[in-house]
Amino acid sequence: MAYSIMLDAGHGGQDPGAVYKGRQEKDDNLKLALAVGKILEDNGINVSYTRTTDVYQTPFEKAQLANQAGVDYFISFHRNSSSKDNQYNGVEVLVYDKSGIKYQMAENIVGALGELGFREIGVKERPGLVVLRRTKMPALLIETGFINSDEDNKLFDEKFDQIARSIAEAILGTLDQETVEEPLYYRVQTGSFRKRENADRMLYQLLEKGYPAFLLHENGLYKVQTGAYQQIGNAVNMEQRLRDDGYSTVIVTR
Ligand SMILES: [Zn+2]
Repeated sequence: MAYSIMLDAGHGGQDPGAVYKGRQEKDDNLKLALAVGKILEDNGINVSYTRTTDVYQTPFEKAQLANQAGVDYFISFHRNSSSKDNQYNGVEVLVYDKSGIKYQMAENIVGALGELGFREIGVKERPGLVVLRRTKMPALLIETGFINSDEDNKLFDEKFDQIARSIAEAILGTLDQETVEEPLYYRVQTGSFRKRENADRMLYQLLEKGYPAFLLHENGLYKVQTGAYQQIGNAVNMEQRLRDDGYSTVIVTR
């Protein structure tokens, strides 16, 4: 399945975002959003943007664009700022709450940027932010260093291509994990044994009777299970059949 992601270059137009020594956050945000988007597109993601030029949008309009497009993810690019110049440095990723795949993705992005030399401030919950609150899909806001930190700007400029690649790879890596994640199965377990021969005895007995039994070696135990079902109702039916047949059973998920 191809994922769709909307990238948002924070601020724009009459809203420059944070400014430091003539450097405007909106420009850094756009440059990075476009660079990350290019890599994501090359990797089969359907990428869209809230803006590709220097135009103004309210945060609410940005969230609306994502909702109207019905994308799977929304990722907003920003740079941080502190009240005093060169007071702070480091990267953080903001999320509505620390749950689900967006949180995992946020952690992966922070870690990837940390490997490039940024201080890892971490992942923070910011439920009040409009682009996180009003978007209907998992949403992240990446603060790629402080714009009023000379140290962070040096990293941003000198390692720009690596930064774009690292963020894109963290996103893609998180999506891969989700894709390979196995669906939940309900399995009916009829026995759990330390000795393999005891498990085998039960397994062969069940197979002889026509049950779809199999053996699982897990945490030092040989487990005999019968059937793997995505619908719990099917597992319950199998459990009933086995109990009628004299087995004691338990339904496990794995
Ligand atoms: Zn900003």
